[in-house]
Amino acid sequence: MPNCPKCGNKESIPTRTFNVIVEPVKGERGMTERRVGMYTCAKCGTKFPTVISKQRYLIVAEEQLKAIQDELSSVKKGNEDLGAKVQGMAQQQREMEDAMDRTAKENEVKRLQAKLAELEEFVGYLRKEKGELEQKASRLR
Ligand SMILES: [Zn+2]
Repeated sequence: MPNCPKCGNKESIPTRTFNVIVEPVKGERGMTERRVGMYTCAKCGTKFPTVISKQRYLIVAEEQLKAIQDELSSVKKGNEDLGAKVQGMAQQQREMEDAMDRTAKENEVKRLQAKLAELEEFVGYLRKEKGELEQKASRLR
């Protein structure tokens, strides 16, 4: 609630509101849109404006914005795919471990261990990829 600049009376409802676009000052990028309310003091009748809210706009070329949005959505998609793969690998890893517990044959155990090591390496690689994609995605947000 703004105060009347003359008598200090609080006013809650503007008589009218309008938007003003403010050009950037030196060193600033983009535009600021201000929502301004005009108030009339109920006590002394003074009319005064108050900025109700501000919204900043950056000017970005449409192609550039589209390219950023496309890249972000493809990164998100890739991230989801990798997440599903990592989950699948972890499931396979658990299944391999169970299979190893069950089997008594030494040859079978050796074969499974080799495959497990391979899977672990791939899971490690996928996790690294996922981390990099998440970093990339967070920079684009
Ligand atoms: Zn007043």
